[in-house]
Amino acid sequence: MTGGGSGIGRGISARLARDGAAVVVVDVDPEAAAETVGLIEAAGGQALAARANVADYDQIRAAVDLGHASYGRLDIAVANAGVFRTGTIRDVTPDEFRGQVDVNMTGVFLTVKAAVERIIESGRGGRIVCISSEAALTTGARVWTYSATKAAVKMMVRGWAQELGQYGINVNSIGPGLIDTPLARFQAGREGGDLRAVVERRRPVGRVGTPDDIAGMVAFLCGPDASYITGSYFLVDGGSRDSYSAPALSEEARQERRSLMAEAAERDQMTRALMDGLEL
Ligand code: NAD
Repeated sequence: MTGGGSGIGRGISARLARDGAAVVVVDVDPEAAAETVGLIEAAGGQALAARANVADYDQIRAAVDLGHASYGRLDIAVANAGVFRTGTIRDVTPDEFRGQVDVNMTGVFLTVKAAVERIIESGRGGRIVCISSEAALTTGARVWTYSATKAAVKMMVRGWAQELGQYGINVNSIGPGLIDTPLARFQAGREGGDLRAVVERRRPVGRVGTPDDIAGMVAFLCGPDASYITGSYFLVDGGSRDSYSAPALSEEARQERRSLMAEAAERDQMTRALMDGLEL
């Protein structure tokens, strides 16, 4: 479980542990990983922490090997670690671009590559889930690097599914919509303030997503009911994708939405980024 020290990764780790898995919580931040392990153990689950940067193959392989040596097998791998950085083509430096690709795209490749070797070795097959984003389907002037890395995850998974079926390995990706995590809050520039109110109005389900919403989909994809599913991408976004054009809204409601978004965008980098892709 990469990026297991925070947000969505912590939620998935806790859910898989609750369902009976022994979880290797991998994170570049060892204290965050240890905290997740503490939470799992306090709830009666089994977990250990491993420090690794997913962009470094030796480090991620060592983490996979540690888990394999400790628990004797590897059945599930979740490639979740990722970063969200925004910027226009004129703003983004070559190093910033490479940095985001290194974690979000290369990091997923290296995680899955390391895990696949151990799963194949076991001969029992397994499940792999990669965390993409709703941004794999849409983009904007400030989020194109992020979108490109997440679209890459979605497409790599489709290719891998073709190869890995022969070993009994199913591999799928999930596209979360906006989920309330430290990453989203950091980008919003505050602790769940106005952006949350704006998003709640914009989603048919009427609320922001939580890590548990994504963890539930991971649990399904790793469970017995998903054996016929591989190479697929699952959007878990509270219906926000089609709410962007909002054809059923009255002109008054549209006006209210426009001014809410404009007000929030003045204060909020992530809303500005989201607005690049919105048709209001
Ligand atoms: P988060 O920042 O709360 O947690 C990410 C974790 O990954 C952190 O613990 C961090 O230390 C770790 N990490 C970062 N770089 C790493 C690296 N190089 N190696 C190992 N660990 C690393 O973020 P989150 O919101 O929980 O996001 C998790 C995933 O979900 C990311 O891939 C993100 O792109 C994706 N996602 C998030 C949202 C959202 O709204 N929060 C929406 C769509 C997709």
